[in-house]
Amino acid sequence: MTRCRFCGAAIEWRITKAGKRMPVEGPVVTIGVPTKLIRELTKRTIVTHDGDTLTGHDLDDLTRLIDAPAFVVANGKRPHWATCTGAQKAREGRKKR
Ligand SMILES: [Zn+2]
Repeated sequence: MTRCRFCGAAIEWRITKAGKRMPVEGPVVTIGVPTKLIRELTKRTIVTHDGDTLTGHDLDDLTRLIDAPAFVVANGKRPHWATCTGAQKAREGRKKR
C-alpha cells in the first residue's frame, strides 16, 4: 500500500489501458456498465400532442435488446483524484513538468 503524497490517503496504483498511471482508493466496488449496444442507441426527441417533450429510442432499435445483455458487471476501485484534497496541488505540479 502507498500513501498519496498530496493528501496522505491510502492509495494503490493501476495502469490504465491507455498506459497511464492512475491512483485508486477504497474498497472494491461492483457496478453495471451499459453495453456498447445500449450506448450506441440513437436518441430521438419528440413533443407529444399534449406538449410533453420526451426523449427515447426507435422501437426497432429496442427490439434488438430483447436477447442482448443491457449491462455487464465489473469490479474495481474508485479513482483517487475525485476525493483527493491535494488534487489541485497535484495538477499544478504536473503542469510545471
Ligand atoms: Zn490524495
